[in-house]
Amino acid sequence: MLIIGAGGVGSVVAHKCAAVSEVFDRITLASRTKSKCDAIAASVRERLGRTIETARVDADETAELVALFRDLRPDIVINVALPYQDLTIMDACLAAGVHYVDTANYEPRDTAHFEYSWQWAYRDRFRTAGLTALLGSGFDPGVTNVFTAWLARHHFEAIEQLDIVDVNGGDHGKAFATNFNPEINIREVTAACRHWEDGAFVETPAMSRHARFHCPGNIGSYEIYRMYHEELESLVQTFPLIRRAQFWMSFSESYLTHLRVLQNVGMTGIQPVVHNGVEIVPLQFLKTVLPEPSGLGADTTGQTCIGVIARGRSRTGGTDRRVYVYNICDHAEAYREVGSQAVSYTTGVPAMIGAKQIATGVWRRPGVWNIEEMDPDPFMADLNTYGLPWQIQDPAEVGAP
Ligand code: NDP
Repeated sequence: MLIIGAGGVGSVVAHKCAAVSEVFDRITLASRTKSKCDAIAASVRERLGRTIETARVDADETAELVALFRDLRPDIVINVALPYQDLTIMDACLAAGVHYVDTANYEPRDTAHFEYSWQWAYRDRFRTAGLTALLGSGFDPGVTNVFTAWLARHHFEAIEQLDIVDVNGGDHGKAFATNFNPEINIREVTAACRHWEDGAFVETPAMSRHARFHCPGNIGSYEIYRMYHEELESLVQTFPLIRRAQFWMSFSESYLTHLRVLQNVGMTGIQPVVHNGVEIVPLQFLKTVLPEPSGLGADTTGQTCIGVIARGRSRTGGTDRRVYVYNICDHAEAYREVGSQAVSYTTGVPAMIGAKQIATGVWRRPGVWNIEEMDPDPFMADLNTYGLPWQIQDPAEVGAP
């Protein structure tokens, strides 16, 4: 197993793979900054008593990746670097004969735009090479896609409406910080909203539609905002009977106010500007001064609550079946277990579980696949085993949007 990317998510993947030694017998963690890999390896040794190897690699350089892959000869690569590196890593997998897993779809650096077409274009090459590429094995995308596939298989004849709701009820004690890579996060939340409606994506201004959502248990009520998220693109293709699909995420008033100010003063821009004779990208500079997401764990309290609300025709003939399936993850518990907050935890655990399905042959299927195209049942069982247990309930009780 080779993990690429030693950030918040990479650290969780390393700990969770190391804990499943019967599947992952040899693990290497490689990233641009080797000292970060070494720090994670030390934590794995201390917590789990296992040694993982570390290496330095620039994943923007296919030749460097190919040399590393040929040296280490991994069966599978889990890509938890940044979406910019998806294609170079997929190229290297093809060159060296390695299966591929990621958690975010490709995005070019100079345009804040992501879509699956670039990675779907690799389908024939992975099929011919006899290699499996599993796209979007994080939480959202990832578990939300598997929840949808599981609901479609066990609860619905046809899902007609799908609402994915991502609530982070956590508090990191900082005035402003993002829970995963700030550059990717801010590009995502400032983009125009798109949702699926009767056969086409409809565009609306960013953050222009919101609703109140009452989480199960004692997590509380949150304002959730409709936004575009990458799993909508593949889910409406895999489940063509879906008439409306929307993605919602919670944001606090303070987060939105900070973001508005940063946008208004030009700090979220991605075009280079010249500062004191040096070209800088404002958003990359902003990332430099913001807290590292991987450093937020120690102070974060509260829980995440992420799930899928499906409505449609039931398998038993009813026309108004409604089901909400969700996971609750506690920031402090995640930190105690692996030293990371719940946003990294909820992404890293499914990345390990997706790789485990390939490693054990359960999901080994040549080609490029979005995760909802695979059999959801073994993945759903593993969520309960490896730290992300799920529950179901009637969405009326949570005030579904
Ligand atoms: P971080 O910024 O914390 O970590 C990214 C890591 O990738 C860093 O260690 C960084 O190295 C490394 N990296 C960046 N560029 C390169 C390169 N060219 N070569 C080698 N390594 C590189 O991000 P996160 O851990 O928060 O997120 C990781 C991924 O997970 C992202 O793609 C993100 O979009 C995705 N994600 C997916 C979610 C889901 O639910 N599906 C949710 C959250 C995140 P360095 O330390 O040197 O900068």
